[in-house]
This record gives sequence, structure tokens and C-alpha cells, in this order.
Amino acid sequence: MMNTQAANENPSLPNDFYLPLKARADEIERSYLALTPNSAKLFKQAEGIYPGGYTRDAIIRKPYSPFVRRGEGTQLIDCDGRSITDFWFNATSLPIGHAHPRVVDAVTRQTQVGSAYFAFSEIELDLATKVCDRLPSGERVRFTNSGSEAVMVAVRLARAATGRDLLVKFEGSYHGTYDDVQWSVGPPVDKVGDPDNPTPVPDTGGLPSGAGRVLVLPYNNPKVLRATMAARGTEVAAVIIEPMANRIGLIQPDAEFLVAARDVCDASGAVLIFDEVIAFRLGRNGAQGEFGVTPDITTLGKVIGGGLPVGGVVGLESILAVSEPGTPNRMAHAGTFNGNPVTAAAGCATLDELTIEAFAHINTLGEQVRQRLREICEGLPLRITGAGSLFKINATSQDIRDYRGAMTVDREWERIASLALLNEGFMLTSSLHGCVSTQTTAAETDTLIEAFSKLLKT
Ligand code: PMP
Repeated sequence: MMNTQAANENPSLPNDFYLPLKARADEIERSYLALTPNSAKLFKQAEGIYPGGYTRDAIIRKPYSPFVRRGEGTQLIDCDGRSITDFWFNATSLPIGHAHPRVVDAVTRQTQVGSAYFAFSEIELDLATKVCDRLPSGERVRFTNSGSEAVMVAVRLARAATGRDLLVKFEGSYHGTYDDVQWSVGPPVDKVGDPDNPTPVPDTGGLPSGAGRVLVLPYNNPKVLRATMAARGTEVAAVIIEPMANRIGLIQPDAEFLVAARDVCDASGAVLIFDEVIAFRLGRNGAQGEFGVTPDITTLGKVIGGGLPVGGVVGLESILAVSEPGTPNRMAHAGTFNGNPVTAAAGCATLDELTIEAFAHINTLGEQVRQRLREICEGLPLRITGAGSLFKINATSQDIRDYRGAMTVDREWERIASLALLNEGFMLTSSLHGCVSTQTTAAETDTLIEAFSKLLKT
């Protein structure tokens, strides 16, 4: 593989850097097959029952995702008996690691007295209080069963509260699987159109037309946002923003962008939604606490369920009031498992562990990982992004600020590098996103960084 110096000498041809690892794709896949014969067998079974072998797109990985039997702390044990150090913790949803004794105990105790009732439980009220206490706009909350559902409810609340239809979302942002946000999440290069006026591209088959319902704008571009809202703001029900954009290379926006979003929503009467399904884990008061910009509604998921299925819509009383019983044109919202007591028990146990000190610990470790990765990637066409306890290695020579920048990554290189790391016993996403938990040790991050460094030299 090209060394640092050569890459520096030839920055106009960064593709040369990616070729040697990609040329090893077959060898790396063969090693994976040899290490995971039981997963291979089970995947054959999965192919016979799930379309293409999968029931969850996020874990799609070539040749197949491993089958896991056990998770404990930072370790996953796959069904071939391999120990894998987890650096993605079910898509960031387990900030205190797998099977944390406090969560196991809380879930066990709750399950013993019943896992679901057609009635309130006190533990659900505890979780509601803990979540609202952490968010500046946390006046009211409704629980859902996933982040996608939280986004759907938030958008519907905004439409009911404003009497408007149009949703502004940003190119490259992922907000789950609800129809009106599955626009321009990962559009192909030849379809994206003008960078300042992106063409809305459906991200899935089966979507009804987004015309009159969805407007796609460039992420991190306050100028375009201000101009668009000046012209069309009174049509807009909501502006939805990820304050940490996972699919746009795990970047954070400039504070100026969030301030502009706050301003234009105030001026137009549109509802500002922060999607903090991932970003809530950036600090005790979520990403909004870090940025000091307060949305009207926040959508949550992942960590507030302590590893169980969950979602939450948190926000101003004046907006969530449209879902109060008896309100004319009320926003209806049922759900057999909303506020489920077992989920609430796991969520409370997790939030209780996530103290200011715990955030300081995971965020410091995250920063150390990013720093070390930056050092070893210096001069190479690799960019390290992330914040708090999250990090990502991007196979590009460009600094990423928006989807157009994120599109420049060499996805195949990232995929092969991720598989090679999995062979070495490290689980990141197949586009090299990672995070640490409160259980992650400096020794574990050291071995990950050593393995990645070795990969760059082979
Ligand atoms: N919003 C964001 C920002 C997300 O990252 C995700 C999931 N990764 C979702 C919404 C959807 O959440 P879920 O997978 O729980 O439906």
C-alpha cells in the first residue's frame, strides 16, 4: 500500500491509495468465511426466510453479517465462538455496554411483575421525567417504539399544530423509515442536481410522491435555508435537522446553521425539530445542550430504551397539546407498546448510569480515538469525523461539510477495511462508524487503532 509520503506527493490521485486494499477484497472475504462457518450456515437459512437474507437494512454486509449469541460489556460472542470487541453497540443504542448488570437487574425485576399492561406504570413516568429533565424544551413527552416512529409523530404533530403540510429536510440526512423523511438520504451522484437546490430523490421504492409535502435543502448551508424560508416559510410545518449527521460522514453542523434554523422557524411559525435519535448521547443535555440552540421538538430513540426498542417525542407543551384528548383536530397516537415498562426500566437504569462524569469519560475516550486516528491518517486521503463518544473514518481526501462532500468517499474501501477489522475482532459499521461505551477501555481502543494502523501498512 502507498505510504504516507507517496500519498502526500500525489494528492491529485488519491484513488491510488485505495487500490491495494480493494485488491485484497477476495482474500479478506475468504478469511471472513473461514472464521465464520456457523454464521455462513445460518445466513443460508436466513436467505430462505428473509428477503435477500435480511430483515434490517442497517446490518447488511457482504458476504453476510455475523450471528451473535451473546453480548457482555464490550464483547460480542458470535456463533463461531469468536470474541468481537464492539465499537458500534447496536447502532449507538447501548452507551453503557451489553448486559450491564444494572439493566439486567431492572429488566428482570420488571419482567417478573409483568412485561406490559393495558394501563400506566410508574416506571414509564420515571423515564418520562428523566428524559424531560435533560432537555431544555422537555415540557411534554410521548413515547413510541422506534426512532422512526418518533419522527413520524413529530412531523404529524407539527402539521397538526401549524395546519401546514410542507416538511423541510436536508440532503443526506437519515431520519428513519417514515415516508416523508425517506427523501434524498443517499441519492446517487447523477441524480442529486444543483447543490443549492437539490433534486428530491426517493430513497426507497414504494414512496408516494413528495410533491407539496417534502422540500430537500443542502445541509449546513444557512444562506440557502434563510433564503428558502424567506420565500416559502409560511408553507412550512417543520424543519427537521440532525445535529449530528450520521450518514453525512458523522459530522456536526456549524452552530451558525442551527441558529439560522431557529431564526427562520421563529420568523415563519414553522416547528423546529432536532432529530437526536443518535445525537442525544453527545452529552447530558443532548446535542442541543452542547450547541445551546433549543428546538421546539426533539425526537429520541436508542439510548433512552437502554437497549430495548424505543422512541420518544419531547417538546413544548404548546405543540404537544395538539395530542391532548378532547382537542379539536387532535393528533391521534396509539401504540400497544408505547411507554412499555420493561423498556422504561432499562431506559431508567441506563440514564442513571449516564451521569455527567460518565459523559466526560466516554467523550474523552472518543476524542482520544479521533486524535490518534488523525495522527495515523495524516497525509492520507482519510478524514476522521465525529464528536463526543462517536468517530468515523471517511475514505476521502475532502473535508466533509454536507452530503456532496460525503458522496466523495470510497465506499468499497471503507467496506473492505471494515471487514478486515471484523476479521481482527472489531465491530464497526461497514462504512467505518464507531463509538465507545462506558465499558470500553483504553486498552481496547489501543488495539483497534493498532489493527487499523497495521491495515494501512499492508
Ligand atoms: N433518526 C436518526 C437520526 C437515526 O439515526 C435513526 C436510526 N439510526 C432513526 C431516526 C430511526 O430510528 P429507528 O431505527 O429506531 O427507527
